[in-house]
Amino acid sequence: MIIEGPIVRLRRVRRARPLSLAELASSLERRASAFSGDAAAMLRAQAMMARDPVLHDRLAGLIAAGRPFEQALAEAAASFGVSHQDVGELVRDALYEPASTPHPGYAYVLVADSLSVADMMRVDPAEVLGVVTAEGGPTSHAAILARSMGIPYLSGYAVSPELDVIRLELPDPSPVGIAPQRVPLLANISSPADLALAQQTGAEGVGLLRTEFYTDYASVAAAFEGKPIVVRVLDSGARDLGGRDLGGRDLGGRDENPLGVRGIRYLRARPSLLDAQLASLSGMSVSVMAPMVSTVDEARWFRARCARFGITDVGVMIEVPAAALCADEILAEVDFASIGTNDLTQFTLAADRQIGALSSYQDASHPAVLRLVEFVADAGRRLGKPVSVCGEAAADPALASVLIGLGVTSMSVAPAAIPAMRRALWGLGALGEGA
Ligand code: PEP
Ligand code: MG
Repeated sequence: MIIEGPIVRLRRVRRARPLSLAELASSLERRASAFSGDAAAMLRAQAMMARDPVLHDRLAGLIAAGRPFEQALAEAAASFGVSHQDVGELVRDALYEPASTPHPGYAYVLVADSLSVADMMRVDPAEVLGVVTAEGGPTSHAAILARSMGIPYLSGYAVSPELDVIRLELPDPSPVGIAPQRVPLLANISSPADLALAQQTGAEGVGLLRTEFYTDYASVAAAFEGKPIVVRVLDSGARDLGGRDLGGRDLGGRDENPLGVRGIRYLRARPSLLDAQLASLSGMSVSVMAPMVSTVDEARWFRARCARFGITDVGVMIEVPAAALCADEILAEVDFASIGTNDLTQFTLAADRQIGALSSYQDASHPAVLRLVEFVADAGRRLGKPVSVCGEAAADPALASVLIGLGVTSMSVAPAAIPAMRRALWGLGALGEGA
Protein backbone atom coordinates (compact mmCIF):
# COMPACT_ATOMS: atom_id res chain seq x y z
CA MET A 1 0.00 0.00 0.00
CA ILE A 2 1.29 3.46 -0.87
CA ILE A 3 0.50 6.65 0.99
CA GLU A 4 1.51 9.94 -0.51
CA GLY A 5 0.79 13.53 0.46
CA PRO A 6 1.92 16.78 2.04
CA ILE A 7 3.36 16.51 5.53
CA VAL A 8 1.83 18.22 8.54
CA ARG A 9 3.77 18.02 11.79
CA LEU A 10 2.16 17.65 15.15
CA ARG A 11 2.98 20.19 17.84
CA ARG A 12 2.46 19.69 21.56
CA VAL A 13 1.46 22.22 24.19
CA ARG A 14 2.30 21.62 27.85
CA ARG A 15 -0.61 21.72 30.28
CA ALA A 16 -0.68 24.53 32.83
CA ARG A 17 -0.58 21.78 35.49
CA PRO A 18 -0.27 18.01 35.12
CA LEU A 19 -3.42 15.89 35.34
CA SER A 20 -3.83 13.73 38.44
CA LEU A 21 -4.26 9.98 38.10
CA ALA A 22 -7.99 10.34 38.82
CA GLU A 23 -8.31 12.95 36.05
CA LEU A 24 -6.34 10.72 33.70
CA ALA A 25 -8.61 7.78 34.53
CA SER A 26 -11.77 9.82 33.87
CA SER A 27 -10.49 11.09 30.57
CA LEU A 28 -9.52 7.55 29.52
CA GLU A 29 -12.97 6.26 30.50
CA ARG A 30 -14.62 9.07 28.53
CA ARG A 31 -12.54 8.14 25.50
CA ALA A 32 -13.30 4.43 25.94
CA SER A 33 -17.01 5.13 25.64
CA ALA A 34 -16.43 6.73 22.23
CA PHE A 35 -14.88 3.51 20.89
CA SER A 36 -15.71 -0.15 20.63
CA GLY A 37 -13.76 -3.39 20.31
CA ASP A 38 -10.01 -3.55 20.91
CA ALA A 39 -9.58 0.21 21.18
CA ALA A 40 -12.27 0.54 23.88
CA ALA A 41 -10.91 -2.43 25.83
CA MET A 42 -7.40 -1.02 25.68
CA LEU A 43 -8.54 2.41 26.95
CA ARG A 44 -10.54 0.80 29.76
CA ALA A 45 -7.51 -1.26 30.79
CA GLN A 46 -5.40 1.91 30.93
CA ALA A 47 -8.09 3.68 32.97
CA MET A 48 -8.22 0.74 35.37
CA MET A 49 -4.48 1.05 35.82
CA ALA A 50 -4.73 4.79 36.50
CA ARG A 51 -7.46 4.13 39.09
CA ASP A 52 -5.39 1.56 40.98
CA PRO A 53 -5.01 2.76 44.59
CA VAL A 54 -1.55 1.16 44.90
CA LEU A 55 -0.26 3.17 41.95
CA HIS A 56 -1.88 6.25 43.44
CA ASP A 57 -0.18 5.74 46.83
CA ARG A 58 3.23 5.17 45.27
CA LEU A 59 2.89 8.32 43.19
CA ALA A 60 1.80 10.37 46.20
CA GLY A 61 4.73 8.98 48.22
CA LEU A 62 7.28 9.88 45.55
CA ILE A 63 5.88 13.38 45.10
CA ALA A 64 5.97 13.87 48.87
CA ALA A 65 9.62 12.76 48.76
CA GLY A 66 10.31 15.64 46.37
CA ARG A 67 10.35 13.94 42.97
CA PRO A 68 9.19 16.06 40.04
CA PHE A 69 5.79 14.84 38.80
CA GLU A 70 7.05 13.34 35.55
CA GLN A 71 9.77 11.31 37.28
CA ALA A 72 7.44 10.28 40.11
CA LEU A 73 4.83 8.96 37.69
CA ALA A 74 7.42 7.08 35.67
CA GLU A 75 8.98 5.54 38.81
CA ALA A 76 5.64 4.67 40.41
CA ALA A 77 4.35 3.07 37.23
CA ALA A 78 7.57 1.17 36.62
CA SER A 79 7.68 -0.22 40.19
CA PHE A 80 4.06 -1.22 39.64
CA GLY A 81 5.10 -3.47 36.75
CA VAL A 82 3.60 -1.32 34.02
CA SER A 83 5.21 -1.42 30.58
CA HIS A 84 7.37 1.47 29.34
CA GLN A 85 4.75 2.15 26.74
CA ASP A 86 1.95 2.55 29.28
CA VAL A 87 4.14 4.74 31.48
CA GLY A 88 5.12 6.89 28.52
CA GLU A 89 1.50 7.35 27.53
CA LEU A 90 0.36 8.23 31.04
CA VAL A 91 3.19 10.75 31.44
CA ARG A 92 2.48 12.37 28.09
CA ASP A 93 -1.26 12.52 28.72
CA ALA A 94 -0.68 13.98 32.17
CA LEU A 95 1.77 16.66 31.01
CA TYR A 96 0.54 17.70 27.58
CA GLU A 97 -2.71 18.87 26.11
CA PRO A 98 -3.95 16.43 23.50
CA ALA A 99 -2.19 17.65 20.38
CA SER A 100 -4.36 19.79 18.19
CA THR A 101 -4.12 18.40 14.71
CA PRO A 102 -4.42 21.15 12.12
CA HIS A 103 -7.20 21.42 9.56
CA PRO A 104 -5.43 22.90 6.54
CA GLY A 105 -8.28 22.09 4.17
CA TYR A 106 -6.50 19.29 2.32
CA ALA A 107 -5.63 15.68 3.07
CA TYR A 108 -2.18 15.15 4.59
CA VAL A 109 0.24 12.72 6.24
CA LEU A 110 0.61 13.43 9.96
CA VAL A 111 4.21 13.26 11.22
CA ALA A 112 5.12 13.22 14.94
CA ASP A 113 7.89 12.12 17.29
CA SER A 114 5.32 10.07 19.13
CA LEU A 115 1.55 9.90 19.44
CA SER A 116 -0.50 9.11 22.51
CA VAL A 117 -3.96 7.64 22.45
CA ALA A 118 -5.34 11.10 23.24
CA ASP A 119 -3.51 12.59 20.26
CA MET A 120 -4.69 9.84 17.99
CA MET A 121 -8.29 10.39 19.00
CA ARG A 122 -8.10 13.94 17.68
CA VAL A 123 -7.13 12.71 14.24
CA ASP A 124 -9.84 12.98 11.62
CA PRO A 125 -9.70 9.95 9.29
CA ALA A 126 -11.26 12.06 6.55
CA GLU A 127 -8.25 14.43 6.60
CA VAL A 128 -5.33 12.22 7.57
CA LEU A 129 -4.02 9.90 4.86
CA GLY A 130 -1.59 8.20 7.20
CA VAL A 131 0.51 8.66 10.33
CA VAL A 132 4.29 8.40 10.64
CA THR A 133 5.98 8.43 14.05
CA ALA A 134 9.61 8.15 15.11
CA GLU A 135 8.84 6.36 18.40
CA GLY A 136 6.36 3.68 19.39
CA GLY A 137 6.08 0.34 17.67
CA PRO A 138 3.28 -1.28 15.68
CA THR A 139 1.75 -2.48 18.96
CA SER A 140 1.65 0.95 20.60
CA HIS A 141 -1.77 1.99 21.74
CA ALA A 142 -1.89 4.78 19.21
CA ALA A 143 -1.14 2.24 16.47
CA ILE A 144 -3.93 -0.06 17.68
CA LEU A 145 -6.29 2.89 17.69
CA ALA A 146 -5.15 3.98 14.23
CA ARG A 147 -5.95 0.53 12.90
CA SER A 148 -9.40 0.63 14.43
CA MET A 149 -9.89 4.01 12.69
CA GLY A 150 -8.67 2.59 9.38
CA ILE A 151 -5.66 4.93 9.24
CA PRO A 152 -2.33 3.52 7.97
CA TYR A 153 0.29 3.91 10.72
CA LEU A 154 4.02 3.62 10.30
CA SER A 155 6.36 3.78 13.30
CA GLY A 156 10.12 3.92 13.64
CA TYR A 157 10.69 6.57 10.95
CA ALA A 158 12.23 9.95 11.73
CA VAL A 159 11.12 12.25 8.92
CA SER A 160 13.67 14.93 8.04
CA PRO A 161 12.50 18.47 8.97
CA GLU A 162 13.21 19.66 5.40
CA LEU A 163 10.68 17.31 3.85
CA ASP A 164 7.26 18.78 2.88
CA VAL A 165 5.80 15.89 0.92
CA ILE A 166 6.14 12.18 1.57
CA ARG A 167 5.59 8.99 -0.40
CA LEU A 168 5.65 5.80 1.60
CA GLU A 169 5.27 2.23 0.65
CA LEU A 170 3.78 0.37 3.60
CA PRO A 171 5.01 -3.19 3.85
CA ASP A 172 1.85 -4.64 5.32
CA PRO A 173 -1.04 -2.45 6.36
CA SER A 174 -3.06 -5.38 7.68
CA PRO A 175 -3.88 -5.16 11.36
CA VAL A 176 -2.25 -7.37 13.95
CA GLY A 177 -5.05 -9.87 14.25
CA ILE A 178 -6.15 -10.20 17.83
CA ALA A 179 -7.82 -13.56 17.89
CA PRO A 180 -10.89 -13.46 20.14
CA GLN A 181 -9.67 -16.53 21.97
CA ARG A 182 -9.28 -17.10 25.70
CA VAL A 183 -5.62 -17.32 26.59
CA PRO A 184 -4.79 -19.04 29.87
CA LEU A 185 -2.26 -17.19 32.00
CA LEU A 186 0.15 -19.64 33.64
CA ALA A 187 3.18 -19.25 35.89
CA ASN A 188 6.88 -20.02 35.45
CA ILE A 189 8.18 -21.59 38.66
CA SER A 190 11.83 -21.72 39.69
CA SER A 191 11.57 -21.62 43.51
CA PRO A 192 9.21 -22.14 46.48
CA ALA A 193 8.71 -18.36 46.56
CA ASP A 194 7.55 -18.47 42.92
CA LEU A 195 5.09 -21.21 43.79
CA ALA A 196 3.60 -19.18 46.65
CA LEU A 197 3.35 -16.06 44.50
CA ALA A 198 1.82 -17.99 41.60
CA GLN A 199 -0.95 -19.14 43.94
CA GLN A 200 -1.45 -15.67 45.41
CA THR A 201 -1.70 -14.05 42.00
CA GLY A 202 -4.15 -16.66 40.75
CA ALA A 203 -2.11 -18.31 38.02
CA GLU A 204 -4.23 -20.75 36.03
CA GLY A 205 -1.56 -23.42 36.17
CA VAL A 206 2.17 -23.89 35.74
CA GLY A 207 3.43 -23.39 32.19
CA LEU A 208 7.11 -23.96 32.99
CA LEU A 209 8.56 -25.69 36.03
CA ARG A 210 12.32 -25.14 35.82
CA THR A 211 13.55 -28.35 37.42
CA GLU A 212 17.16 -27.23 37.41
CA PHE A 213 16.17 -25.01 40.33
CA TYR A 214 13.09 -26.56 41.94
CA THR A 215 11.99 -30.18 42.12
CA ASP A 216 9.34 -30.37 44.82
CA TYR A 217 6.84 -31.86 42.37
CA ALA A 218 4.43 -32.87 45.12
CA SER A 219 4.04 -29.27 46.34
CA VAL A 220 3.48 -28.00 42.83
CA ALA A 221 0.93 -30.73 42.15
CA ALA A 222 -0.89 -29.99 45.41
CA ALA A 223 -0.91 -26.23 44.78
CA PHE A 224 -2.25 -26.58 41.24
CA GLU A 225 -4.34 -29.70 41.49
CA GLY A 226 -6.68 -30.11 38.54
CA LYS A 227 -4.84 -27.37 36.59
CA PRO A 228 -2.26 -27.75 33.86
CA ILE A 229 1.31 -28.31 35.09
CA VAL A 230 4.14 -28.42 32.57
CA VAL A 231 7.41 -29.77 33.92
CA ARG A 232 10.54 -29.10 31.94
CA VAL A 233 13.14 -31.80 32.40
CA LEU A 234 16.63 -30.67 33.29
CA ASP A 235 18.14 -27.97 31.13
CA SER A 236 21.49 -29.20 32.41
CA GLY A 237 24.67 -27.97 30.90
CA ALA A 238 23.11 -24.53 30.76
CA ARG A 239 25.49 -22.02 32.21
CA ASP A 240 23.04 -20.87 34.87
CA LEU A 241 23.60 -24.20 36.55
CA GLY A 242 27.30 -23.59 36.70
CA GLY A 243 27.84 -27.09 35.35
CA ARG A 244 26.40 -28.76 38.46
CA ASP A 245 23.54 -31.19 38.84
CA LEU A 246 20.70 -30.84 41.29
CA GLY A 247 22.72 -32.35 44.10
CA GLY A 248 25.44 -29.80 43.47
CA ARG A 249 27.73 -32.40 41.95
CA ASP A 250 30.14 -31.17 39.33
CA LEU A 251 29.00 -32.37 35.94
CA GLY A 252 32.36 -32.04 34.34
CA GLY A 253 33.05 -28.39 34.01
CA ARG A 254 31.14 -25.29 33.37
CA ASP A 255 29.70 -25.01 29.89
CA GLU A 256 30.66 -21.52 28.82
CA ASN A 257 29.13 -21.96 25.41
CA PRO A 258 25.37 -21.49 25.01
CA LEU A 259 25.71 -23.31 21.68
CA GLY A 260 27.12 -26.34 23.47
CA VAL A 261 25.91 -29.56 25.02
CA ARG A 262 22.85 -28.61 27.03
CA GLY A 263 19.19 -29.52 27.41
CA ILE A 264 18.08 -32.57 25.46
CA ARG A 265 21.60 -33.03 24.03
CA TYR A 266 22.98 -33.31 27.52
CA LEU A 267 20.24 -35.74 28.61
CA ARG A 268 20.66 -37.94 25.57
CA ALA A 269 24.27 -38.35 26.48
CA ARG A 270 23.24 -39.33 30.05
CA PRO A 271 19.90 -41.15 29.73
CA SER A 272 20.02 -42.43 33.30
CA LEU A 273 19.83 -38.83 34.55
CA LEU A 274 16.66 -38.29 32.49
CA ASP A 275 15.19 -41.65 33.49
CA ALA A 276 15.59 -40.84 37.18
CA GLN A 277 13.67 -37.62 36.66
CA LEU A 278 10.96 -39.25 34.55
CA ALA A 279 10.57 -41.99 37.14
CA SER A 280 9.81 -39.45 39.84
CA LEU A 281 7.24 -37.76 37.57
CA SER A 282 5.63 -41.02 36.60
CA GLY A 283 2.06 -41.35 37.84
CA MET A 284 1.66 -37.62 38.43
CA SER A 285 -0.86 -35.60 36.53
CA VAL A 286 1.65 -33.45 34.68
CA SER A 287 2.84 -32.71 31.15
CA VAL A 288 6.54 -33.03 30.51
CA MET A 289 8.66 -31.15 27.99
CA ALA A 290 12.25 -31.22 26.78
CA PRO A 291 14.44 -28.10 26.52
CA MET A 292 16.63 -27.10 23.59
CA VAL A 293 15.23 -29.54 21.04
CA SER A 294 16.67 -28.88 17.60
CA THR A 295 15.85 -31.99 15.56
CA VAL A 296 12.86 -34.23 14.85
CA ASP A 297 14.88 -37.17 16.05
CA GLU A 298 15.36 -35.62 19.50
CA ALA A 299 11.60 -35.06 19.81
CA ARG A 300 10.89 -38.65 18.80
CA TRP A 301 13.53 -39.99 21.21
CA PHE A 302 12.17 -37.91 24.09
CA ARG A 303 8.60 -39.02 23.51
CA ALA A 304 9.68 -42.69 23.48
CA ARG A 305 11.67 -42.22 26.68
CA CYS A 306 8.64 -40.61 28.41
CA ALA A 307 6.41 -43.47 27.20
CA ARG A 308 8.55 -45.95 29.15
CA PHE A 309 7.41 -44.18 32.31
CA GLY A 310 3.76 -43.92 31.30
CA ILE A 311 4.06 -40.17 30.66
CA THR A 312 1.68 -39.43 27.84
CA ASP A 313 1.42 -35.65 27.49
CA VAL A 314 4.79 -34.84 26.03
CA GLY A 315 6.03 -31.60 24.52
CA VAL A 316 9.11 -29.75 23.38
CA MET A 317 10.45 -26.29 23.95
CA ILE A 318 11.04 -24.35 20.79
CA GLU A 319 14.14 -22.30 21.57
CA VAL A 320 16.34 -23.02 18.59
CA PRO A 321 15.56 -21.49 15.18
CA ALA A 322 15.97 -24.91 13.53
CA ALA A 323 13.18 -26.31 15.71
CA ALA A 324 10.93 -23.35 14.89
CA LEU A 325 11.51 -23.82 11.16
CA CYS A 326 10.80 -27.56 11.44
CA ALA A 327 7.80 -27.00 13.73
CA ASP A 328 5.45 -29.08 11.56
CA GLU A 329 7.67 -32.13 11.64
CA ILE A 330 8.58 -31.75 15.31
CA LEU A 331 5.02 -31.09 16.47
CA ALA A 332 3.88 -34.16 14.58
CA GLU A 333 5.95 -36.20 17.07
CA VAL A 334 4.66 -34.60 20.29
CA ASP A 335 1.52 -33.16 21.91
CA PHE A 336 2.43 -29.52 22.41
CA ALA A 337 5.16 -26.91 22.06
CA SER A 338 6.25 -24.11 24.34
CA ILE A 339 8.28 -21.32 22.80
CA GLY A 340 11.22 -20.20 24.93
CA THR A 341 11.73 -16.73 23.55
CA ASN A 342 14.76 -16.08 25.77
CA ASP A 343 16.88 -18.66 24.03
CA LEU A 344 15.10 -18.32 20.70
CA THR A 345 16.00 -14.62 20.66
CA GLN A 346 19.65 -15.13 21.56
CA PHE A 347 20.11 -17.80 18.90
CA THR A 348 18.14 -15.96 16.20
CA LEU A 349 20.04 -12.73 16.73
CA ALA A 350 23.37 -14.43 17.40
CA ALA A 351 23.65 -12.51 20.68
CA ASP A 352 24.60 -14.37 23.86
CA ARG A 353 21.94 -13.53 26.46
CA GLN A 354 24.54 -13.42 29.24
CA ILE A 355 26.56 -10.61 27.69
CA GLY A 356 25.39 -7.22 28.92
CA ALA A 357 26.84 -5.37 25.96
CA LEU A 358 24.46 -7.34 23.70
CA SER A 359 21.35 -6.70 25.76
CA SER A 360 19.81 -4.50 23.09
CA TYR A 361 19.71 -7.58 20.85
CA GLN A 362 17.64 -9.57 23.37
CA ASP A 363 14.54 -8.22 21.72
CA ALA A 364 11.83 -10.79 21.15
CA SER A 365 9.85 -8.22 19.17
CA HIS A 366 12.48 -8.40 16.43
CA PRO A 367 10.59 -9.36 13.25
CA ALA A 368 12.80 -12.43 12.81
CA VAL A 369 11.77 -13.80 16.21
CA LEU A 370 8.11 -12.93 15.67
CA ARG A 371 8.16 -14.67 12.29
CA LEU A 372 9.49 -17.81 13.95
CA VAL A 373 6.76 -17.56 16.60
CA GLU A 374 4.17 -17.23 13.85
CA PHE A 375 5.66 -20.19 12.04
CA VAL A 376 5.34 -22.39 15.12
CA ALA A 377 1.83 -21.12 15.95
CA ASP A 378 0.73 -21.85 12.37
CA ALA A 379 2.10 -25.38 12.62
CA GLY A 380 0.24 -25.82 15.92
CA ARG A 381 -2.99 -24.64 14.31
CA ARG A 382 -2.52 -26.96 11.33
CA LEU A 383 -1.89 -29.95 13.59
CA GLY A 384 -4.41 -28.98 16.28
CA LYS A 385 -1.71 -28.80 18.97
CA PRO A 386 -1.30 -26.10 21.61
CA VAL A 387 1.60 -23.64 21.34
CA SER A 388 2.44 -21.54 24.37
CA VAL A 389 5.09 -18.92 25.04
CA CYS A 390 7.04 -19.19 28.29
CA GLY A 391 9.96 -16.82 27.68
CA GLU A 392 10.15 -13.29 29.06
CA ALA A 393 8.38 -12.00 25.95
CA ALA A 394 5.14 -13.45 27.32
CA ALA A 395 5.48 -11.09 30.30
CA ASP A 396 5.60 -7.96 28.15
CA PRO A 397 2.08 -6.55 28.04
CA ALA A 398 2.83 -4.71 24.81
CA LEU A 399 3.90 -7.92 23.10
CA ALA A 400 0.94 -9.91 24.38
CA SER A 401 -1.40 -8.70 21.66
CA VAL A 402 1.16 -9.60 19.01
CA LEU A 403 1.78 -13.09 20.38
CA ILE A 404 -1.93 -13.78 20.70
CA GLY A 405 -2.52 -12.34 17.26
CA LEU A 406 0.11 -14.72 15.90
CA GLY A 407 -1.86 -17.63 17.33
CA VAL A 408 -0.18 -18.49 20.62
CA THR A 409 -2.68 -20.41 22.78
CA SER A 410 -1.36 -19.77 26.30
CA MET A 411 1.21 -17.62 28.09
CA SER A 412 3.44 -18.54 30.98
CA VAL A 413 5.18 -15.76 32.90
CA ALA A 414 7.08 -15.07 36.11
CA PRO A 415 4.46 -14.93 38.90
CA ALA A 416 5.33 -11.30 39.67
CA ALA A 417 4.24 -10.38 36.13
CA ILE A 418 0.82 -12.02 36.41
CA PRO A 419 -1.16 -8.98 37.66
CA ALA A 420 0.14 -6.71 34.88
CA MET A 421 -0.39 -9.42 32.29
CA ARG A 422 -3.89 -10.07 33.53
CA ARG A 423 -4.67 -6.39 32.97
CA ALA A 424 -3.18 -6.58 29.48
CA LEU A 425 -5.08 -9.73 28.53
CA TRP A 426 -8.24 -8.34 30.04
CA GLY A 427 -7.75 -5.26 27.89
CA LEU A 428 -7.52 -7.49 24.84
CA GLY A 429 -10.61 -9.46 25.79
CA ALA A 430 -8.35 -12.53 25.89
CA LEU A 431 -8.29 -13.29 29.60
CA GLY A 432 -8.50 -16.99 30.30
CA GLU A 433 -11.52 -18.40 32.13
CA GLY A 434 -11.12 -18.23 35.87
CA ALA A 435 -8.18 -15.81 35.84
C1 PEP B 1 13.51 -19.54 27.35
O1 PEP B 1 14.59 -19.85 26.85
O2 PEP B 1 12.76 -18.67 26.90
C2 PEP B 1 13.05 -20.25 28.57
C3 PEP B 1 11.84 -20.05 29.06
O3 PEP B 1 13.95 -21.07 29.19
P1 PEP B 1 15.13 -20.50 30.14
O4 PEP B 1 14.92 -19.03 30.33
O5 PEP B 1 15.02 -21.28 31.40
O6 PEP B 1 16.34 -20.84 29.32
MG1 MG C 1 15.61 -21.64 27.51
